[in-house]
This record gives sequence, structure tokens and C-alpha cells, in this order.
Amino acid sequence: GKSVAVLTSGGDSQGMNSALRAIVRLSLHRGMRVYAVHEGYQGLVDGGEKGMEECSWNSVSNILHKGGTAIGTARCRDFREREGRLRAASNLVKRSIGNLVVIGGDGSLTGASVFKEEWMGLLAELQQEQRITAEEAAKCRFLNIVGLVGSIDNDMCGTDMTIGTDSALHRIIEAVDCLTSTAASHQRSFVLEVMGRHCGYLAQMAAIAGRADWVLIPEKPPEPGWEDVMCQKMQTCCGLGERLSIVIVSEGAVDKENKPITSQYVKKVIETKLGHDTRITVLGHVQRGGKPSAYDRLIACRMGAAAVLVLLQATGEIPPTMIGVQGNYICRIPLMECVEATRNVNRAMQECNFKRAQALRGSSFLR
Ligand code: ATP
Repeated sequence: GKSVAVLTSGGDSQGMNSALRAIVRLSLHRGMRVYAVHEGYQGLVDGGEKGMEECSWNSVSNILHKGGTAIGTARCRDFREREGRLRAASNLVKRSIGNLVVIGGDGSLTGASVFKEEWMGLLAELQQEQRITAEEAAKCRFLNIVGLVGSIDNDMCGTDMTIGTDSALHRIIEAVDCLTSTAASHQRSFVLEVMGRHCGYLAQMAAIAGRADWVLIPEKPPEPGWEDVMCQKMQTCCGLGERLSIVIVSEGAVDKENKPITSQYVKKVIETKLGHDTRITVLGHVQRGGKPSAYDRLIACRMGAAAVLVLLQATGEIPPTMIGVQGNYICRIPLMECVEATRNVNRAMQECNFKRAQALRGSSFLR
């Protein structure tokens, strides 16, 4: 029978456990052996009982409702080196594992793809150095890889949503609601800084769902002189009786010259131009915490099941595949295409080519 290893890598996100659970249980149900790899690629490199654990049905009991990842995640330096990948390959081959599911961001998925490209060479080297036998190598002639995107940023091409984004948005909206209720007695302005790196999805959606007065996102740097326009808008709202102003700043927000727009700067602008009592709230890791939303549990479960089906259906070597959701359909996309496109988006963003970045990202959230 087939065997599969599953790992979570890079930053954690809510819903990873749901994906893990679906992968373990559907694999077992269909007669595949399944190994949970601990602490991202580090578990593959280290091997042993601590690094890679064979799963039973109950290994993934009681994790569905928990945030983060039950098998740990890490940024693994060793896996970036060839020797680390040699050790990782040897640990898979020793257990006759020819399938790998990686749940992580674009970095983790790039690592997976590098690993697959090198696979034949790694096996040859391991055999030459007598670290594995010819029989062991023969059982794992190729490595089939499927990637799932776990990230709160929603910054990956090829999927409308990444696992964790919806839950993070819930945390942000809860925070906005809390700010709203403290504002009853003062005329106050809040600058709320949210995560997302180069992607303004979280900020943009939070601004709509949380009735913000102004939002700054990386994809749409404001026109020069925006400070006055923003303050005018806030003043108008005050005139209409609003007691609270909220400005949401994406952590990657920049101006037309690609200089970061910080929450500190926005606060200073509001204080000098409007004289409002202004507070900054940086949500930080709160956004990654708490329970996964129903939506994240569902897409993660559907994506996890789809990953297992790809591997079960493979009758031979398959190109690295990413599972995404497009228009509410779970779909299979060539992994490297998604990784390349995502890199190109980030490059276009760095070059201030925002139109190109938007077109490349293919996500409709700015429309
Ligand atoms: P996040 O979106 O949360 O940052 P990520 O998956 O992009 O997640 P990274 O830190 O970029 O996070 O990558 C996670 C791990 O994947 C790295 O620590 C490393 O072990 C592995 N990795 C990333 N890129 C490569 C690569 N080019 N070659 C080998 N391994 C890699």
C-alpha cells in the first residue's frame, strides 16, 4: 500500500488542524499509512520517533476546534541545505514513504518543489554513500507532492482563499467591534494595524465589514495629498454625529514612492490636522489566535480530502500539485505555477507596478 507524510510549515494559521485531520482520516480509511511530521521540515530532517509519527484514527482526535497546528510548525534552516534534504529523503525512504503533503505558505511550497526536483539526485547520492540500500531506493523512485496553503494573509495565487484568512478576519472584526464600544463617551480616532504582508485583503475586508472611515493597503497607494482628503472625510463624519473614526492600515501599506505608511505616521497626521485623541492598536498575533471559523474548518477539510484523493489516484509520478478553492470549487493546480505567479506579484509590488500585481494575483477582492 501507499504511505504519505504530512507536515505544517512556516507561520501557523487557524484551520491547519482541520486539514491535518481530514488527511489522516481519509488516508487511513482508504488504506494508506500516514505519518505526521513534527515541527515542519525539521521533523523530516531529524526523523526518529520525535520527528515522524505514524498516525492512527485517534491521533487527530480533539484538534478540529483548536487554532494553530497540533503537529507544530517551524522555519527550518537545515532543509535549505542539501545535507538537510539528504537526511529528509533518507528518513522518507527508510519508511517507504513516496507521498508528501505540505501545508504552509509560498516559502514552504517552494521548498517542497525544490525537494521533488532533486529527488532522483538525492537518492543516487544516498545510495552511493551507502546510507540507503538499492532495494529501499527502488521502492521510492519518485516523490509525489501536494501543497495546501495555510496562511492568514490570503496572498497566494491560484486560490481565492487560504486556510486561516477567514478566522483572522473574524479576530479583526471582533477587535473593531470592541473599539467601537469604548468610543461611546469620547470623540476618538483609532488607527488599527492589521497583518497581511504584501497583501491588503485582510485590511480591505475588515474596512468593509467593520465600517472603517479610511483604509490603506499595499495594492492601492493613495494619491499624494491623501492626508488632507482622509482628514476631511473624518471631519465630515464627525459633523454628521459620528463619535468614532477608524482608520485601518495594512502592515504592508506604502505610498506611491513605495515608502511604508506606518500607523505612527497616520496617528500623527490625525493629531496634527484634526486634534483628535488618537490611539494605535496593533493586533499582531491575536489575528492568528483563537478558534478556526466554520469556513476555515470546511475549506481545510475539503482541501485535505482533495490532497489525499490526488495521491490515491496517481498511478505513477505526478507533477507537484496545489489544492485551491476557486469560486467555491476545490481544484488542483500546478504547484510551481502558483508559486511563480505569487513571486511575480511580490516583485511587481516591490516595483510599484500595482496594476500588474493585481492582474497577476487574479484575486477579485479589489473589484
Ligand atoms: P509564511 O507565509 O507564514 O511566511 P512560508 O511557508 O512562506 O510561510 P517560509 O519561512 O518562507 O514560510 O518557509 C518555511 C520553511 O520552508 C523554511 O524555513 C524552509 O525550511 C523551507 N523553505 C522555504 N524556501 C525553501 C527553499 N527555496 N528551499 C528549501 N526549503 C525552503
